[in-house]
Amino acid sequence: MTRWNEFYVHTTREVPSDAEVISHQLMVRAGMIKKLAAGIYTYLPFGWRSIAKMAAIVRREMDAAGAVELSMPAIQPAELWQESGRWQRYGRELLRMQDRHDRDFCFGPTHEEVITDLVRRDVRSYRQLPFNLYQIQTKFRDEIRPRFGLMRGREFLMKDAYSFGATEAQLDEAYEAMRRAYCAIFEACGLEYTMVEADTGTIGGSSSHEFMVVAQTGESAVVSCGCGYGANIEKAESRLPAVPVPATEPGARRTVPTPGHSSVPDVAAFLGVPATRIVKTLLYETEKEFVAALVRGDREINEVKLQNALGCDHLALASEEKVERLTGAAVGFAGPLGLPAEVRLIADESVRELRGFVCGANESDAHLVDLVWGRDLSLPPVADLLLVAGGDPCPRCGEPLQLSRGIEVGHIFKLGTKYSEAMRCHFTDEHGAELPMIMGCYGLGIGRTVAAAIEQNHDADGIIWPLPLAPFEVLLMTINATDEATRKAADELHAALVARGIEVLYDDRDERPGVKFKDADLLGIPVRVVVGGKSLAAGQVEVSRRRDRVKEAVPVTAGLEAVLARLAAEGRRLPG
Ligand code: ATP
Ligand code: MG
Repeated sequence: MTRWNEFYVHTTREVPSDAEVISHQLMVRAGMIKKLAAGIYTYLPFGWRSIAKMAAIVRREMDAAGAVELSMPAIQPAELWQESGRWQRYGRELLRMQDRHDRDFCFGPTHEEVITDLVRRDVRSYRQLPFNLYQIQTKFRDEIRPRFGLMRGREFLMKDAYSFGATEAQLDEAYEAMRRAYCAIFEACGLEYTMVEADTGTIGGSSSHEFMVVAQTGESAVVSCGCGYGANIEKAESRLPAVPVPATEPGARRTVPTPGHSSVPDVAAFLGVPATRIVKTLLYETEKEFVAALVRGDREINEVKLQNALGCDHLALASEEKVERLTGAAVGFAGPLGLPAEVRLIADESVRELRGFVCGANESDAHLVDLVWGRDLSLPPVADLLLVAGGDPCPRCGEPLQLSRGIEVGHIFKLGTKYSEAMRCHFTDEHGAELPMIMGCYGLGIGRTVAAAIEQNHDADGIIWPLPLAPFEVLLMTINATDEATRKAADELHAALVARGIEVLYDDRDERPGVKFKDADLLGIPVRVVVGGKSLAAGQVEVSRRRDRVKEAVPVTAGLEAVLARLAAEGRRLPG
């Protein structure tokens, strides 16, 4: 029995100024969430019902896949993070705190350390493996830019699962079970999604995939191809076609003045050479060293690939001041020839085949031309550092890649022995040998998925809930709530629906119909029944679906069946 006035739902017309994306705007306007501080939200009753439905779908599929639920603490002791090495490495996203005894703790952004500590104290033998443990729990990450409401919060709900096995085959099996469970979850939510290859980062690990809900406003760029290849842009590969090299042998290397021309397009225009014959040099600083990364002038560096190739924890473009010190020139004139020995050189594949190319001279207002690898300078170590662009050839089939945007809602990862080795989470195999357990981890954003569902299902007037995530299945509303006959008919229909196990929000407010219809559209509950006014006088109620708004007047006595039919059309299975 849920009457509007007893339910605490407060809609608003006002769009908060920080709500850039539609799901954030609609969640605030529909009274689903309320901001307490940046990236920290109260889930209001209407929002919480949807979150609870999401969590229930996740639980059902995780349980079906053989994972077992537990719940770990949110506050974690620093010692575990020191053991894994992440106390240093995790950076400022980790919210650190001290207790009254000055002991260090953090609010868990993830739970590899805690679960590994748990398992190493309980499990000894290969006979106790494999298993997969999961929880649905509050995480905190001090995101540099919390935004988009629940999509990138600082405090947020995540389902995280961790598998432990004795063999690679057991890891593969757990991973495959999670992959299938994730597909089942996002299908059950009625979402349009894709699975793409993801970067495994400096953690190593052999395999990782992300689940992306397709959306224009997504923060992740993904490439895909008709052949089935799909990857996050951080991971995406391509086979770039080589650019033609000049037919004649390039002349001797020369320094040419390029006053005020530092960007690639400027230099290309000024010297009359294509951007594809310029080598762009970018100076980075890591925790260990300075790095000069080279890429063909028309292309960009993928910093995730660069970081992996260097094996560093932190990577950022060097400051203007440092660039000037290292190159002895203004910013924009860096080149691979003549940098101080402290700068490590690394090149993208795209520069390997260039001959007679142009690069910065490490001298203000000057470039070097007609450079040849091996003749004028040696080719630095080469790696794939390329940021793939839409239209680049697919690494599998060569067809042009499609670039699109998505919201990362889930992430599965073969961790291997990274944590079990660092934290000595060992077992004895059948021959008595002591080995580190082989782990996988599997994350899924609960709030982010609900937000993504709204991102995919809305119109100008409000949310259009996919039934499985809808806070209620039916919105029953009266026109003229004070009219005795209206109230009686609506109360009876309400009771009949509730008796059939249907989740009804009953808008019996004494408000103008215009206000109630606007709210109904905003809230987006899949099926609507309107009782009162002229149709009731004619012995009828009006039933419609939020998705297509096609209204049908049915006799009051047929109201229940008409609603059930609409729900069934939305995929609801009804008992009996
Ligand atoms: P992102 O690249 O978006 O920051 P991540 O790679 O840090 O995500 P994971 O550590 O893999 O995310 O976390 C697992 C899942 O948790 C993500 O797939 C996402 O659904 C969810 N998630 C991560 N960060 C947030 C956040 N700040 N707010 C809401 N959900 C989040
Ligand atoms: Mg993150």
